[in-house]
Amino acid sequence: MAKHETKTIEQVIQDASRYLNEEHTTFLRLAYDYAKEAHVGQIRKSGEEYIIHPVQVASILVDLEMDPATIASGFLHDVIEDTGITYDDLKEEFGEEVASLVEGVTKLGKIKYKSKEEQQAENHRKMFIAMAKDIRVILIKLADRLHNIRTLDHLPEHKQRRIANETLEIFAPLAHRLGISTIKWELEDISLRYLNPQQYYRIVNLMKQKRDERVYYIEKVINEIQDQLKDVNITAEISGRPKHIYSIYRKMVIQKKDFNEIYDLLAVRVIVKSIKDCYAVLGIIHTCWKPMPGRFKDYIAMPKPNLYQSLHTTVIGPKGDPLEVQIRTQEMHEIAEYGIAAHWAYKEGQDHDQENMSKQLAWFREILEWQSETNDAEEFMESLKVDFFSDMVYVFTPNGDVIELPSGSVPLDFAYRIHTEVGNKTVGAKVNGKIEPLDYRLKTGDIVEMLTSKHSYGPSEDWLKITQTSQAKNKIKQFFKKQRREENVERGKELIEKEIKSLDLSPKEALVEENIQNALSRFHLNTLEDLYAAVGYQGITAQQATNRLTEKLLEKEKPVDLENSLIEAQQEVETKTKKKSTGIGVNVKGVDNLMVRLSKCCNPVPGDEIIGFITKGRGVSVHRDDCPNIKNEDEARLIDVEWEGVTRQRKNYSVDLEISGFDRNGLLNEILQVVNETNTDIVAVTGKSDKNKMAVIHLTILIQNVDHLRRIVDRIKHISDVFTVQRTIQ
Ligand code: MN
Repeated sequence: MAKHETKTIEQVIQDASRYLNEEHTTFLRLAYDYAKEAHVGQIRKSGEEYIIHPVQVASILVDLEMDPATIASGFLHDVIEDTGITYDDLKEEFGEEVASLVEGVTKLGKIKYKSKEEQQAENHRKMFIAMAKDIRVILIKLADRLHNIRTLDHLPEHKQRRIANETLEIFAPLAHRLGISTIKWELEDISLRYLNPQQYYRIVNLMKQKRDERVYYIEKVINEIQDQLKDVNITAEISGRPKHIYSIYRKMVIQKKDFNEIYDLLAVRVIVKSIKDCYAVLGIIHTCWKPMPGRFKDYIAMPKPNLYQSLHTTVIGPKGDPLEVQIRTQEMHEIAEYGIAAHWAYKEGQDHDQENMSKQLAWFREILEWQSETNDAEEFMESLKVDFFSDMVYVFTPNGDVIELPSGSVPLDFAYRIHTEVGNKTVGAKVNGKIEPLDYRLKTGDIVEMLTSKHSYGPSEDWLKITQTSQAKNKIKQFFKKQRREENVERGKELIEKEIKSLDLSPKEALVEENIQNALSRFHLNTLEDLYAAVGYQGITAQQATNRLTEKLLEKEKPVDLENSLIEAQQEVETKTKKKSTGIGVNVKGVDNLMVRLSKCCNPVPGDEIIGFITKGRGVSVHRDDCPNIKNEDEARLIDVEWEGVTRQRKNYSVDLEISGFDRNGLLNEILQVVNETNTDIVAVTGKSDKNKMAVIHLTILIQNVDHLRRIVDRIKHISDVFTVQRTIQ
């Protein structure tokens, strides 16, 4: 590992003056002075003055021959984050370009990465690019990371590993996609040293042992090529290609190859003056040594998406082993080493304005879209599936996972992406810690937290209009479909049983297997539930269904059976009357004459799962099973209770509903009208709206049982602009 000397500000300015004029270097010095002043008194973990870090970052950017604004931003990249200086301060002092570059770097620093999943890493990389409106922000960030990882020694081991891991998964691939090989290799090698020191040093030692033998053969090959080129008057720079530790490590792990197999592969690089010379050199090499079939690649005619150009070939070398040869021009070589940075390298008089930069960033995003550096077909298909890159937003879950959504997506799209149940139970959303309406448009970098309640009655019809993703829309439609079926089944069952009773028969005797099959085959249905549903949505009438269900019974007219059922009915009446009614429609199991009341916090209604709580001196209070107020109570004080039969129930159970929606004229009126139409008494109504035009209405109504409640809620949910309906607990 090459040790990097720490550069002084004088050295950095000197290096910069090789390609920048005096006006520019003066500007750089101003940026340095300003940063030094801002960071004064701050110390790095190594004990050095903080300013050393920004100076090295600027130095890396000078090596990439970046423009003056980018280097100045390198000096200043930490001042917004770590000192009291603001965007406006920088704008006033150094102009908008520098201020927004520094601000961009600060924003990227806020992205927290922790997941190890490949898809998450990919989303993080995309988020980086989506958030950096200017490609130079990423270059500064890479320089920052490079210097940080060079100086990891002073951090505790767990931090070293975390940073190395993040570097390997996020920053090195970014450097690769930008084509900046020099930075990519260094990031990878140092990361490996921290993540797997054993393997790292093993490879380093093996390389040392083999060095002499290798140098000998490389020299032999280089001399042979030089001799041949002299004959045809081509001047070329020929060198052995350095092998990088991480790339050897990767090949050993992924291709399960032995160190020797990888390292013995000789590789040389020939750099010439013109494209014509490239092809001439190729011809000469192919006449010297036998080319291996299928190994010639012309990246000059067909550049790689990250702009890389070269001729590649593999021949059988002098040792009888494969020899890899790369042939390229000096210009191509610079792009191979510095990638996109070479493309941006500062040239006097060249257009470096904001518009140009963002155009190039857009172009860069496009190539990312089509780029595949992996042989994994599935992953490649995945990357193609992503709609257009710029049309995506990247948001965080509260855990720091990144979720990719089409732009225009709202919190509900996010919720359904997380899980169907999260979507269905949504009652609100927090974005960056603040409650936002459900139609809020998500932005890249938002942290989204869904508020759910198991008391939510599920999606409202408006959700179909608000949501952007087909995934969310499908799940909402599915919910309605399923819910309607459940309702139809219930209604159909009720109607059929009523019809059977009107024939002086009991549902129990009519609904036996034989009769059910009779009816099902008549209507071409599969299950009794299907029959109920068909009656529920009035595909067939209750009378038609009942005729089929009872025709055999009526044919037979068995008096004995009738007698039996009479006795059964009598017994049923007796057991019912044995229990003493409490007057509120609830019985305490196994205990009579207890004072019983319905709790005011959760307002249970017939049909709810309930539980009794023995109070001190005030009898038993009845709560809903899931009421949070009894969750932590002593179990010994809980007692089983049950709803009485239908006939004894009152019709005035009080229920509180919370309805949220878009605050428009007439919304409250429509809600009240719908409730009135169901002949339901309204006890209280309150409503308020916030500055986001979100209305929240609290409604207290008297209802008979859960089915009654469900019908009302369902009608409210179908009012347009209603977002959520839920039962509240006080
Ligand atoms: Mn920094």
